[in-house]
Amino acid sequence: MERARIKRLGNRCIIAFAAISLFYSCKQDPKENISEEIAIVEEPEETLEFGFNLDDYIVKRDTIQKGDSFGEILQRNSISFSHIFQIAEKTKDTFDIRKLQVGKPYTLLCTKGDSLQKPNCFIYQPNKEEYVVINFQDSIHAYTSRKPIKYVQKEVAGVISSNISEALSDQGVSVRLAYKLADEIYPWTIDFRRLQKGDNFKVIYTDKYIDDTIYAGVADVKAAFFEHNNEPFYAFEFETDSLKGISDYFNEEAKNLRRAFLQAPVQFSRISSRYNLKRRIAYYGNRLRPHRGTDFAAAIGTPILATANGTVIESTRRGGNGKFVKIRHNATYTTQYLHMKAQKVKKGQFVKQGDVIGWIGMTGNTGGPHVCYRFWKNGKEVDPFKQKLPEAEPISDSLKIKYLEFIKPLKIQLDNIQYKIPEIEEKFEEVFDNTNVITQVNN
Ligand SMILES: [Zn+2]
Repeated sequence: MERARIKRLGNRCIIAFAAISLFYSCKQDPKENISEEIAIVEEPEETLEFGFNLDDYIVKRDTIQKGDSFGEILQRNSISFSHIFQIAEKTKDTFDIRKLQVGKPYTLLCTKGDSLQKPNCFIYQPNKEEYVVINFQDSIHAYTSRKPIKYVQKEVAGVISSNISEALSDQGVSVRLAYKLADEIYPWTIDFRRLQKGDNFKVIYTDKYIDDTIYAGVADVKAAFFEHNNEPFYAFEFETDSLKGISDYFNEEAKNLRRAFLQAPVQFSRISSRYNLKRRIAYYGNRLRPHRGTDFAAAIGTPILATANGTVIESTRRGGNGKFVKIRHNATYTTQYLHMKAQKVKKGQFVKQGDVIGWIGMTGNTGGPHVCYRFWKNGKEVDPFKQKLPEAEPISDSLKIKYLEFIKPLKIQLDNIQYKIPEIEEKFEEVFDNTNVITQVNN
């Protein structure tokens, strides 16, 4: 390692090596020389941050630029090279100054009244939660610390008019909540690509904040209700294994919301053609050409996922199917994935739900990049979207009673969340009353 080598090389080499490290540029090419002035932020009220009262300092904030190094930043702030060297030496066990990354924020705290505005503290933030303090005010020392994290429980309710993201952003709620609902809680029960106007939802979730003020996204969904096609779907988060910290979502009857099968073998894809036994294609003279699969269109190279655990019984290339994989899940179910660019699995291999088994391509008889997903039940090709698919892992009998007790207050809380539709309607009425009557009527 470097340190062992340095010992052998002796003192003069240490200084030479350290000098290189101090000015070791960040990985990207230093095309332009950065000589931009660092903005001086004036703090109006007593501001505590990074464990300092910022009012006691002149605070300079910036981000690491291309070509920046720890040495250069301090040098252009009037710190002498020998001092920089000392700082780097004394703090090297806590913080490797070569690890500064372009784009990450840093803060310099400078003594007030010093005409040179020399900093005596360098604070680097490798991520939103952590910060590294290199303090060289009196004695040189460095430490890594975390900003305080706060979780705030919130509620939201909405009615779908076009899509879930819009319904949430209308109320100033992060779209990340939509992804959580679509990808983590309801991917097995609700097809979010086919939401209906009037579908509605209520969610109890927690938002995460760093340092009380920095919004860090939706942390967790505690409970949700989604009415899709006039059918209610409750979801409650429940820890089934406290030792391993495993949680799952179950409905009001303690049924697991996860299914043994994913709804789609491709994430973020578009269904380009559904299972349809009465399909007629103009190209074939409008003759009946039943489509026994579901086509998911996506870019070439997009990963194709096994929709359930199983064993690969075929991974080959044949005729119009092109390159394909066929998986046997159990005595009842088998799935097949056609037109792959390439397969990633071999015959006989065991795969788990969500494993990548190949990539979207155009092999065989196909007009565009997609995967034709075929679904067999008891040897017959069926439409997976019309099946009641088996539950993944049911809750154990011993936990079921505990679960039903646990969800009681949550369900009451969910049921009592009010939809905020009236406010929106009022706003529309105002618009109507004023100027846009003609436009509105024409629409
Ligand atoms: Zn197809």
